[in-house]
Amino acid sequence: EAIIRAEKIEKYYSQPSENRIQVISATDLNIVPGEILALLGPSGSGKSTMLRMLTGLSRPSAGQVYWHEKPIAQTEINVSIVFQSFALFPWMTVLENVEAPLQARGVLPEERRQRSMRMLDTVGLDGFEAAYPKELSGGMRQRVGFARALVVEPEVLFMDEPFSALDVLTAENLRSELLELWSKKTMPTKAVFIVTHNIEEAVLLADRIIVLGRNPGHIRTDFRVQLQHP
Ligand code: ADP
Ligand code: ADP
Repeated sequence: EAIIRAEKIEKYYSQPSENRIQVISATDLNIVPGEILALLGPSGSGKSTMLRMLTGLSRPSAGQVYWHEKPIAQTEINVSIVFQSFALFPWMTVLENVEAPLQARGVLPEERRQRSMRMLDTVGLDGFEAAYPKELSGGMRQRVGFARALVVEPEVLFMDEPFSALDVLTAENLRSELLELWSKKTMPTKAVFIVTHNIEEAVLLADRIIVLGRNPGHIRTDFRVQLQHP
């Protein structure tokens, strides 16, 4: 019943100078409904590479990614990605930014507007519809990022270091608000996949953590965790 299932995927990149380097070695991974899954690892361990393969943005060099058991390249998928750098359109207002993915999917103006306003309200941006991204703080911009990702009601929400560009306090607030939305089941998504290098963030948010080792390409199975019960 996995939504996304990766089977023995590998990724190589060709380097101009040397031979190709292996970034991911034969890896199995499932994303199942109801879970927040964290992919934890140091910089350069292949987290973004994994995210791109799991979302169909890039093809594995070997192995296969399935979306509801169909090869991901051959089927329509419903995911959104939140980026570390927000990636908002600077020439559009907050409302227009959130409406953009709905417009791209052919949703009519009236419904587009209603759904976007509702989502802005959900992420605490009521009253900021007409503002431009440059007028907002980092935390507010990432709220727009979340609203734009969630407005299409993705089955899986992917996040690539979504809090890394924010100051500690803002990141803390956004994390707990996200968790609250998730646990109240008010988030229009079945599963969340978060890429992070922050172990505390992974522990705080995730139901399950996958650890990529510092030698590129390896999911660590030698990782020992001691559970401390309250
Ligand atoms: P992380 O997200 O954990 O920082 P990445 O997936 O971005 O890791 O990168 C893993 C390794 O693969 C790094 O050594 C990076 O330089 C290399 N890499 C990533 N994307 C490419 C690419 N398109 N071409 C060549 N090398 C790449
Ligand atoms: P793929 O071959 O998997 O489709 P691309 O080569 O198109 O991937 O690159 C995917 C992403 O990785 C792009 O956003 C690109 O900017 C980034 N990228 C390219 N080279 C590197 C690198 N050496 N290290 C990290 N990221 C890279």
